Amino acid sequence: MELIFEKSVSGRGCSILPACDVETASLPANLSREEPPVLPEMAEVDISRHYTELCGNVHGVNSGFYPLGSCTMKYNPRIDEEMAALPGFTCIHPLAPTDSVKGCKAVFDTAKKYLLEIFGMDDCTFQPAAGAHGEFTGVMLIKKYHESRGDADRRTKIIVPDSAHGTNPATASMCGYTVVNVPSASDGCVDLEALKEVLGEDTAGLMLTNPNTVGIFDKNILEITRRVHEAGGLCYYDGANLNAIMGIVRPGDMGFDCIHSNLHKTFATPHGGGGPGAGVVGCKDFLAKFLPKSALMDGEDALQVRSFSGNFLVVVKALAYIMTLGKEGVTEAAQNAVLNANYLMSRIKGTFKPAFDRICMHEFVLDLSGYKEETGVSALDVAKTLIDYGMHPPTMYFPLIVHEALMLEPTETESKENLDKAAEVFRKLYKLGFDDPEYMKAAPHHAQIARPDEVQAARNPVLRWSKND
Ligand SMILES: *Cc1c(COP(=O)(O)O)cnc(C)c1O
Repeated sequence: MELIFEKSVSGRGCSILPACDVETASLPANLSREEPPVLPEMAEVDISRHYTELCGNVHGVNSGFYPLGSCTMKYNPRIDEEMAALPGFTCIHPLAPTDSVKGCKAVFDTAKKYLLEIFGMDDCTFQPAAGAHGEFTGVMLIKKYHESRGDADRRTKIIVPDSAHGTNPATASMCGYTVVNVPSASDGCVDLEALKEVLGEDTAGLMLTNPNTVGIFDKNILEITRRVHEAGGLCYYDGANLNAIMGIVRPGDMGFDCIHSNLHKTFATPHGGGGPGAGVVGCKDFLAKFLPKSALMDGEDALQVRSFSGNFLVVVKALAYIMTLGKEGVTEAAQNAVLNANYLMSRIKGTFKPAFDRICMHEFVLDLSGYKEETGVSALDVAKTLIDYGMHPPTMYFPLIVHEALMLEPTETESKENLDKAAEVFRKLYKLGFDDPEYMKAAPHHAQIARPDEVQAARNPVLRWSKND
């Protein structure tokens, strides 16, 4: 489609400013532009059509199935947006005196109470702006703890399973730790023997997601956290995605000492494209003194990891979401997330092969390595063909321990009918790979952009238009 600048016609416009009724003044020459800015000039109807067309080129949860594993693209109820749009929340200044924003403080306090109950933790901070930022904050708590015991110099290693989200080793490394990988056993759980070998006096902690990124709940979790504690390390829970366990089991009860959770994955903030998000960090009592503080919650001179109190409106949405669902509803959402994933997996089974053929949590991974050998059609080709069927591709080539991986997370908000339709598409594509592999290798055939150079797109993205280009 044409850019808005290409649609521009000189002299056209739609400003409806009232006549100026105050005295005018000119800017000093050194502050004025030499030429007028290049802005699109369009009639209102054409602007409206332009943005409507743009909307049609984007795939969101509101346009169709979006099973992007680990990212949780669930439908976010409109009521949460309505609450976050209330003027009492949107029209406040971050430096407003604490006395004048008691309602906002009540939002933080109430959200804190509910989230701590879900986490099984004692205290938390809402400052971090996203999951990775929360991880950084959480691992720094671990570091502060070892420092406070005079034990930081020798505890230099953080253990991360090989199925971990990429942000985990990146976080540990940014916090100055050496990352030690621990392999998964053939059942997708942490290999206990291998864990034993890497634990020692140099262990600062372990970062773990449970259920892990292959969608499997580690049955040895109590044993794992006990062993880490025995070695003098702390346990960090990556709770970016709590959809399988909220209201059912609590990371605090699994033996974890701190956690981050992405409010923008589990608790009703639509995400993608860079935010805003919120990576609330919870911890047990003995770590609470190391938490960053916010001016609103804790007074003026607080140590912060982000300006002010974090992305407040994301917390409003999370609170609205939790309060709308209620205690039973939160549990039911988790149960349905798990049920939906298992239902979809069982409907696809018999065609594409699950990487681990056992009951999964809220997501599951397909292993297309055998299929690729037989047909020449890769996970990428299947993902690209799905676009033509009005579906967002699943997460591809992650987790790294499964080759030709497609990772599906249907989420709790899809109906049985929607899951049946999605399964039908997968079954159809499975067959198409044998019948017409070339068609799939050239897919998508009906999208605006088919196969961009992904390395170039990531390394040298062209994000702005210039009239001189
Ligand atoms: C998404 C995700 C993260 C990172 O969260 P961001 O908000 O994208 O920084 C970390 N861990 C897991 C398991 C995730 O799914």
